[in-house]
Amino acid sequence: MKIIDGKQIAAKIKEEIAGEVKRMIDRGEKVPHLTAILVGEDPASETYVNSKARACKQVGFDSSTYRFPADVSEAELLEAVTFINKDPEIDGLIVQLPLPDHIDNQKVIQHILPEKDVDGFHPVNVGRMTIGLPSYVSATPHGIMEMIMRSGIETRGKNCVILGRSNIVGKPMSLLMARNEEPGNATVTVCHSKTQNLAEISSRADILIVAIGRPEFVTADMVKEGAVVIDVGIHRVPSADTKSGFRLIGDVCFDEVSKKASHITPVPGGVGPMTIVSLLMNTLKASKKEIYG
Ligand code: NAP
Repeated sequence: MKIIDGKQIAAKIKEEIAGEVKRMIDRGEKVPHLTAILVGEDPASETYVNSKARACKQVGFDSSTYRFPADVSEAELLEAVTFINKDPEIDGLIVQLPLPDHIDNQKVIQHILPEKDVDGFHPVNVGRMTIGLPSYVSATPHGIMEMIMRSGIETRGKNCVILGRSNIVGKPMSLLMARNEEPGNATVTVCHSKTQNLAEISSRADILIVAIGRPEFVTADMVKEGAVVIDVGIHRVPSADTKSGFRLIGDVCFDEVSKKASHITPVPGGVGPMTIVSLLMNTLKASKKEIYG
């Protein structure tokens, strides 16, 4: 069994990006700039935005955060997006989700210029990805594809089962694994909460990608001997063994499934670090105008 070390792969990609930023500076070019919009004081959102800012700093990007109180109006938020859309210094804009209930998430996302939508959530980017045109692909699926490629995992003709059909993970993942490109060219099955015989389907997978948001849902009996298992889930659970009193676990029961899998991603240190690095890759592309010219 081989652990797919997302932390190590992400560190290597960060080195490559940092090298490119140095070359951009040597050529007198502007360094990439990522901006985040953060609404309210949700600690998890705060942590995500801070870790994105830290990652930007590590590779030499500029970063900034526009903070708004939880009672900001939708109109004010749309105005801020318009302002950032027009700022030539800013290459990429992410809006940290979820937004408060009185704000329409989709309306805000659709207000971001597709060329600055480095999260790849705008319908134009989703549509372009769907028909195989260059686009920003949302960070988690993008990171998983990069991880699969860099780990030398063969996907062509394989049975890939995806547990979960969310817009940000399961759905784009299924399109990427089925695309006529490598990695891709897999035969894909998508499972969700209405799927019958899920364990029987998952145990036929050569590649099992799990994004259902249920702690340690996937057990060894649901996995084929020698399967590649990618665990997207992340859950903070109480623990007597750590100083913080918490530990992170995934959607997969790592201890038992790792005994059957040929490759498996750990939690933490698997998909998570790849997600942040994908955002950096997209921001670099945005600053070089690689997708939209
Ligand atoms: P989500 O929007 O909650 O979607 C969950 C999906 O799983 C839905 O399609 C749902 O089906 C399906 N599902 C839920 N319970 C199920 C069950 N018992 N059997 C079969 N299918 C079931 O979740 P998400 O945003 O994709 O995230 C999934 C997990 O990944 C979460 O733990 C999240 O924290 C984590 N995550 C991690 C990263 C990272 O960077 N590591 C990034 C994003 C997400 P229905 O569609 O029928 O409701």
